[in-house]
Amino acid sequence: MMQFAGKSVCKGIALGPVRVWKKRKDPVERGVAQDTSAEIGKVLSACAQAKQQLQRLYGKALGEVGKEGAAILEAQRMILEDEAYLEAIRNKIRTEEVCATYAVAEAGEKISDMFSQMRDEEIRERAADVKDVSDRLIRILEGEGEDGLPKGSPAIIVARDLSPSQTVQMEKGKVLGIVTVRGSENSHVSILARMKNIPTLIGVPVDLAKIATGMEAAVDGFLGKVTFEPDETVRRQVKSRMEEEEKNRVLLGKLKGKPTVTPDGRYIRLCANIGCVGDLEGALENDADGIGLFRSEFLYLGRDSFPTEEEQFWAYKQAVQKMAGKEVVIRTMDIGADKQIGYLNLEKEENPAMGCRGIRICLKRPEIFKTQLRALLRAAVYGDLAVLYPMITSAEEVRQIFEIVRQAQGELDAAGIPYKCPRQGVMIETPAAVMVSGELAGLADFFSIGTNDLIQYTLAVDRQNERLADFYNPWHPAVWEMIRLVVKNAHACGKRVGICGELGADLRMTGAFIRMGVDELSVAPSMILPIRQAVRGYVPDLREV
Ligand code: PEP
Ligand code: MG
Repeated sequence: MMQFAGKSVCKGIALGPVRVWKKRKDPVERGVAQDTSAEIGKVLSACAQAKQQLQRLYGKALGEVGKEGAAILEAQRMILEDEAYLEAIRNKIRTEEVCATYAVAEAGEKISDMFSQMRDEEIRERAADVKDVSDRLIRILEGEGEDGLPKGSPAIIVARDLSPSQTVQMEKGKVLGIVTVRGSENSHVSILARMKNIPTLIGVPVDLAKIATGMEAAVDGFLGKVTFEPDETVRRQVKSRMEEEEKNRVLLGKLKGKPTVTPDGRYIRLCANIGCVGDLEGALENDADGIGLFRSEFLYLGRDSFPTEEEQFWAYKQAVQKMAGKEVVIRTMDIGADKQIGYLNLEKEENPAMGCRGIRICLKRPEIFKTQLRALLRAAVYGDLAVLYPMITSAEEVRQIFEIVRQAQGELDAAGIPYKCPRQGVMIETPAAVMVSGELAGLADFFSIGTNDLIQYTLAVDRQNERLADFYNPWHPAVWEMIRLVVKNAHACGKRVGICGELGADLRMTGAFIRMGVDELSVAPSMILPIRQAVRGYVPDLREV
């Protein structure tokens, strides 16, 4: 039995087999083939598995991003049936007597390079697909699961670190828990784990070389403890805590359908934060009043090219339709900092959190922004959609955004495409935005305070830096003074103000937010009912700030 303490970023208990997730070794080693026919056989069987995976992903993508978005998976499946591609691999094995993995890596690289130099844009675009398909085959040949995630049975992921795009693809049912050696509480990996309600520990000092896939582990997100190969006593304790948890869940379930209102009659809008269409289920299941923050940038991660207007339109339309009349606030892409996308071809920055991020990219590359805006405006026809702009620092930026929105409207008008102009909100997550919130309140329809970044920029503490966790102080009076000012300025203009950063879900702060006059809290779906309980039982003696 091996036990470690870590920082819990999502409570809950998990018991099950471990899947150690390692990054694929790059470049692939040149292994010698003892039996070339056997190596060719391995490739063919990996192709069959890859086709099944792509078929499954196609079905899933159809439901999440529509036919056009899913088409990429169909194109990849066809590569696996392409004789020229297969023959290049077979030929490599036969003539150079190399192992299957090496042959796939080499042949894939060569074909992909060749495609990327073609004049025809369509062929050039296929280069990335060939690379993707080859990587998938290599993962299968190396015995790793789909996308590096557990294949088949649900498991606890143990990794050195994860990226936001890996985490966003995790399915609640397939990932029982997450344990990482690195990580910080306010990184997007932790936020996503909370959004998906997966018990997660970060900063666990475990030697990954001593942990094997298949080993049993118990993750206790309440106590911040993980036990590998737990003995009978630990297993019993964990199981009884799981039963307790279940009872608690049933009790909280009784709050579904009840209003989030304080005993003295103040109504608080209680919404959910989501990262993809798949997360809507959790929001509905937990009886959210709406979606307070849809982090649309996750549609852009984990792929090789921008999502098209149609793909985005489909995702946003799904969101508003599924929420059936409840408001869905979609934040325009907040790419940058820890959420990087290679195909944007941004220059490497010394300090990405203060670099080309969020609205700055949109203002510098209006054509990318306009594609998203057109998709949003079109989707607004199908339900109650509002747009939220991240990383704002001035009223001038908001005016520039409004001008681009007008251009997007003009384009849709010219093409005769139906649309609706949604409400437009501003995220208050920079000290500059706080200081000019009086002016911003005159322009925006509503405010949403992003406390994760507001703390980072106010205290000059990188939210990603695990070594600075002690300095990332959510109770700092400067932060609370700022929230107070923003609420005052919003209300002076008759605008509503919500909290969509992680502080909104901190039960120790619910009372303080109510006292300050915050109108809305938007939190991970699993925190909706606990917050509702806190609001309904609100007594004004909670911690003063
Ligand atoms: C925030 O900064 O509080 C926020 C909600 O946005 P993100 O965490 O995605 O930066
Ligand atoms: Mg932010």
